[in-house]
Amino acid sequence: MTVEIDSNSGFCGGVIRAIGGAEKFLAERGELFSLGAIVHNEAELARLQHKGLITLDSLNAAPASFTVSPKEGSTAKAPVSANKTLLIRAHGEPPATYELAREKGFEVIDFTCPVVLKIQKSIREASRRHSPDGQIVIFGKIGHAEVLGLVGQVDGKAVVVENLPQLEVAIASGEIDISRHIDIFSQTTKSPTEYDELCAYLASRMAAPGLLEVHNTICSQVASRHKELVDFARGHDVIVFVAGKESSNGRVLCDLCASVNPRTHKVGSVAEIDPSWFSVADSVGVCGATSTPKWLLEEVAGHIKNLH
Ligand code: SF4
Repeated sequence: MTVEIDSNSGFCGGVIRAIGGAEKFLAERGELFSLGAIVHNEAELARLQHKGLITLDSLNAAPASFTVSPKEGSTAKAPVSANKTLLIRAHGEPPATYELAREKGFEVIDFTCPVVLKIQKSIREASRRHSPDGQIVIFGKIGHAEVLGLVGQVDGKAVVVENLPQLEVAIASGEIDISRHIDIFSQTTKSPTEYDELCAYLASRMAAPGLLEVHNTICSQVASRHKELVDFARGHDVIVFVAGKESSNGRVLCDLCASVNPRTHKVGSVAEIDPSWFSVADSVGVCGATSTPKWLLEEVAGHIKNLH
């Protein structure tokens, strides 16, 4: 059996930047709060938690104590210390979060990915340009942190659709008015093919040409990974896709692998690997999401190599 790790898998630039910043801060100060999981990967979160990173579910907790997310492996109450610092992760946040953090006495260190910051700015500008009649539509996961941050740029005045059927419903109900100007944006980690289909459909429904402005906001690192991953998945007998349960990018990329290679299996750690997936002559490809650490891909590959 041969086992190959996809050289293009592993953290994207935005996640590397945020984790690097958090580790540097923790080495100096020993404690850092993060609003939401800094990365959607349980194993990496546990590693950072050990170094002093405390994940908060919300800033709306009482100032005296915050609940540490149970998903990150702890249900303990984290005491709020003086001079506490809050990290804004790569997904970004709406402006209201920055205000609330300061009200709660946090010093903020902002690791919003530069790509996301650019989209946030672009949404604010599009909204101003076409005010008061323009509409903002976002193709993304409802409730996802990045999407909440994007919607927050225009005080929540944006329609979020997760897929084509939702777009059809929004048009039919009048929530999206096809006789008015529309600026459409995508969450950075969505499927480029799906976004193209959605935009083509919307363009075909608009009341007049020129009313729709499509913003190409899928992250280039994600878009190129889609193409490379299809080749990688086709080139192996079995694919083991490593991603955290909460990773939306992980779901999209794993589905992509499964669409070209039915012997695709998704795991969060070595404990979920089933030896019956492999036979001695198989070539196995190990790959992951933009939130999957390289060390975990190596651990999974090493475990599979030792099976036969
Ligand atoms: S996927 Fe792209 S946009 Fe999103 S955090 Fe990573 S580098 Fe930034």
